[in-house]
Formats: sequence, structure tokens, C-alpha cells
Amino acid sequence: MKNIRTSAFLLFITLFFSFLTGCQNSTESEASAEENEQEKQPILIQGPMPIEAENFAAKLEDVEEETSGNFVFYKGKVDDYPVIVMKTGKGMENTAAATAIAIEKFDPAAIINQGTSGGHDPDLHVFDIVLGERTVNIGSLKTGHREDGEGIAPKEWIPMDLMASEGSAGEDPDAENIRYFEGDKVLLKAAKAVKNTHEEGKVVEGTIGSADVWNNEVDRIQWFHENFGTSVEEMEGAAGAQIAKAYDVPYLGVRILSNNKTNDGEYNPDTAEANQDYVYEVVKKYISKKN
Ligand code: SAH
Repeated sequence: MKNIRTSAFLLFITLFFSFLTGCQNSTESEASAEENEQEKQPILIQGPMPIEAENFAAKLEDVEEETSGNFVFYKGKVDDYPVIVMKTGKGMENTAAATAIAIEKFDPAAIINQGTSGGHDPDLHVFDIVLGERTVNIGSLKTGHREDGEGIAPKEWIPMDLMASEGSAGEDPDAENIRYFEGDKVLLKAAKAVKNTHEEGKVVEGTIGSADVWNNEVDRIQWFHENFGTSVEEMEGAAGAQIAKAYDVPYLGVRILSNNKTNDGEYNPDTAEANQDYVYEVVKKYISKKN
């Protein structure tokens, strides 16, 4: 009797442990499937205005929409790879905040900031595209010293690097430099490889300048072009680049000219869609090299 009870107990223990191991195995396999999904870090595509984001969002497969504050994230896929289109809103503050939130939320593999821009280079025309080899904040400036009644002299303003030190940017001579954010080499390579898909204009490498300013003074535009080497201006790129650098996330600006005051290029909003069509090709190329 005692033996039977012992054997029954042993059998129960054996079955119990094999049940536990079974459970563990199935959770392990579920976890590794999840990990595989998570291993594919998404690519983020940023666009400020509806016309600069929604065309790309419409190209995604299996889209889910998520919002955070003012920001809209269209989470979907391109060629079975996770891609998130973000409508950031216009300007530096929106872009910086949206970039930080997206990095924390989605742990992206790379970020492309794209949209329209105004030409600083007279050789560039409406519908040409600039790949941001470098991006620079053209609102980050220090004025000269002038006393009461001495007027203002914008051409004497000098660049101010807010990342030079933790000390006073107004006093620190190390801060009197232009801070350029480098575009990611791998993203640039993918973008260069599909240049010929953009038929409405040319695609060139250049410098993107950003600030919450729309410059219409041609002399001022020329001053930036000569002193900062800007090809185009817009209101977002450098803000996203600064935050992407803080988190060490690969980043590239891709900007189409919607206007160019230096050669009478009238504003054309249709450029926003053409840029998204091109960036879609860039993303496909980037994914094909990643897989
Ligand atoms: N509120 C403005 C429009 C701003 S639109 C007005 O009504 O006049 C600005 C958007 O277009 C920004 O997202 C910016 O990145 C882009 N942009 C296009 N051309 C620009 C230019 N010449 N200067 C600055 N931003 C430009």
C-alpha cells in the first residue's frame, strides 16, 4: 500500500515537473519569436506638415496609428520591414520633442527627416533634392557688442555652438564655432544609389540649414550660403539631428526645394509629394541592404 502511494507520488512529481518544463519551453519559444520581431528596429520617417507625411504614410502596409501629444505615428511596413512615419508638426521644438519621444518609444535603427525647403544655392531649382551631408542650426547665433543707439548689424553676427561646453555660450570663445551634424554614411549611400528614381529634378549632396525663421532677404540668404555653406533652409532638420546624435541614432535629412528666392523659384507645394516618393525608394534600398 505504502509502495503504491510512493509510486503514485513519484509519478505525480514527474508529471508535474514535465508540465512545468513544457510551460517554460512554450514561453521561451514565444519570447524568442517576440525577440525576432523586436530585433528589427524600425526606420523612422519624419515629415512636418500633413502634405509632407501623409503621402508616405499611405504607402505603408498594415498601418496602425498612434498619437502622443501633437505627434502622429503611422506604424506600418515596407517590404515586410517595420517603418514608422511621424507627423512632427513644423519647427525646431516640435521636431526635437517628437524625435526624443520616438527614440524612447520605438528604439529606431535610423531616422530620415524629410520635407520641403527654400534654396540658398542659385544653382538649385524647385524640385531639386538636397541630401544632408551636413545639417546646421542657422538660428544659433551671437550678436556683436553694440551700445544703446548703435543699431543692429546682422552681418556681424557669429555662429554659436550650444554643444561646445556646459558653460556660458555667451562668454565661452570655444562656443564661437559652427556646429555641423554629419548625415549618416549608410543612409547617404542608399540615397545616392537611387538618385535616378527622382525624375522631376536633380539630387545633390549638400548642407541643410534650420531655424524657426523663413528668410526672404536675398542678401541674408547669400550670407548664410557664403558663411555656413548652406544649400537650403528649412525649420526642422538640425533639431532632429541634434537629438539623434544625443542618442547615437543614424540620421539623414532629405529636402526638396519648394521655393528658391535666389533664382525666382516660386513656392510649389507639389514638391512635398515628390520628395516622399523619392524617400520611399531610399527606404526600400536601405532595407534591401539591411536584410
Ligand atoms: N507659417 C508659414 C509657413 C511655414 S511653412 C507661412 O505661412 O508663411 C514652413 C515649412 O516649410 C517648414 O516645415 C519648413 O521646413 C519648410 N520650408 C519650406 N521652405 C522654407 C523656407 N524658405 N524657409 C523656411 N522653411 C521652409
